[in-house]
Amino acid sequence: MVSRVIPVDPFDLVIFGGTGDLARRKILPGLFRRFCSGQMSSESKIIGAARGVHTAEEFSKIVASAIHEFGSSDAIDESVLAEFLTRLDYVAVDARGDTGWTELAGKIRKNLVNAFYFSVGPSLFGDLAERLKRFEMADDDSRIVVEKPFGRDLATAKALNASLAKHFDETQIYRIDHYLGKETVQNLMAVRFGNMLFEPLWNSQYIDHIQITVAETVGVGGRGEYYDRSGAMRDMVQNHLMQLLCLIAMEPPAKFEPDAVRDEKLKVIRALEPVLPHHIVRGQYGPSEDDDDFRTHVEDSSSKTESFIAMKMAISNWRWAGTPFYLRTGKRLKARTSEITVVFKDAPHSIFGADAGRHNNELRIRLQPNEGMTLDVTIKEPGPGGMRLVDVPLDMAFADALGDNAIDAPDAYERLIMDVIRGNQTLFMRGDEVEAAWAWTDPIIEGWQARGEVPKTYDSGSEGPTDAMAMIARDGRIWREIKR
Ligand code: NAP
Repeated sequence: MVSRVIPVDPFDLVIFGGTGDLARRKILPGLFRRFCSGQMSSESKIIGAARGVHTAEEFSKIVASAIHEFGSSDAIDESVLAEFLTRLDYVAVDARGDTGWTELAGKIRKNLVNAFYFSVGPSLFGDLAERLKRFEMADDDSRIVVEKPFGRDLATAKALNASLAKHFDETQIYRIDHYLGKETVQNLMAVRFGNMLFEPLWNSQYIDHIQITVAETVGVGGRGEYYDRSGAMRDMVQNHLMQLLCLIAMEPPAKFEPDAVRDEKLKVIRALEPVLPHHIVRGQYGPSEDDDDFRTHVEDSSSKTESFIAMKMAISNWRWAGTPFYLRTGKRLKARTSEITVVFKDAPHSIFGADAGRHNNELRIRLQPNEGMTLDVTIKEPGPGGMRLVDVPLDMAFADALGDNAIDAPDAYERLIMDVIRGNQTLFMRGDEVEAAWAWTDPIIEGWQARGEVPKTYDSGSEGPTDAMAMIARDGRIWREIKR
């Protein structure tokens, strides 16, 4: 199968925070890959901007070493890299100062697509937005891209939205959630709405429950201070897991268009029921053989922040009443995996008798590693041993199905940046979506604080606190094993 690379219009992209970790690890290596694929034309330009004083040549060296360190594992074609580096420029600006801005404005070609990536902390978003307008760098066609975290509660998210809305229309604001840029996440919509097979069964009549697991093996690393103020609920559930839940649960939009899709996602968030305290389990990882525990990592011996959370959620609408959604995410778990499992109900009656066992279908959607989908189908166990049933996977690993094209598939960041240039907001969160997600999250966090709840300790390398197993077991269900 040959995937088509459709070049985007020539652009000038300014990356505020162009020397930072995110720019070096994701944005710039991603843009290089799009350049290699022919999607980014050699007319386009990328301008790094940060407080540090660098010449364009010094910035090129920073970018080249980032591409070597974090770029794709394929051998880098040095001549293409050299050509890509000629598309780079750099201007020193302080988001809170005024020097450098006129020079930066002079470098932007108004006849091209103009995009401004705010790869800096959210406290600078308002300052950047204001200066982009004051120095006449941005007009009504310009786009701004903002990174998570988008607020830490409803009040801060509203303030951030207001600070951007003062200068930019909602149609110009691209709030990134890189989970939405993953191939499988978009495939979820293709599978649901492009086939007749699934959608008629996609409701509480046929689906027993849905599990979403995002498990990491790493701890909080060098982000201890940030993470201790955030925790798994703010860092993962309010945004990434919530977005996945929306795409699984939403009604079919009339069209695959930005507001049609985002309207449906918003309705899901608004239909979420408040979560009861006994439907949530929070955990903190303990020490491992060669590393410290969570509290040592965040340098707070009495921290009440969770590095793990499991919860049972309910969506109050006709489609989902009676079908629970179990979400789980955590650090220092047994394996690194992101997976959605749709567990269908048992057949209403088994004609094969008790000996054949009970079987049901499961659709597993893997986001990482090995993006793909698997559908467990029940068949007869081969051989002469009578009518015994067995579940076999119909496996669609994208790497197998799409060959080299899957391996070359753009990373989530690359895909999303190309969507910014195309002016397609479908895979970006709208302001009201983010606020609705915080409106649901805030009372849960406030409840923990009011009750002074302390997360349970779990073993590093495990599947989380045993209470999480007990929570789902009370409903007669089990978590899928966390494995690669
Ligand atoms: P970082 O490594 O600390 O980089 C910050 C960048 O912003 C640097 O280039 C810094 O350069 C620049 N900067 C800081 N203050 C500035 C100012 N006043 N004016 C202009 N530039 C300024 O941070 P990061 O990890 O790249 O993260 C950037 C944003 O992305 C944050 O909001 C973060 O939460 C979010 N994010 C990061 C990741 C990730 O994997 N790193 C993932 C998701 C989201 P100077 O010091 O030279 O100014």
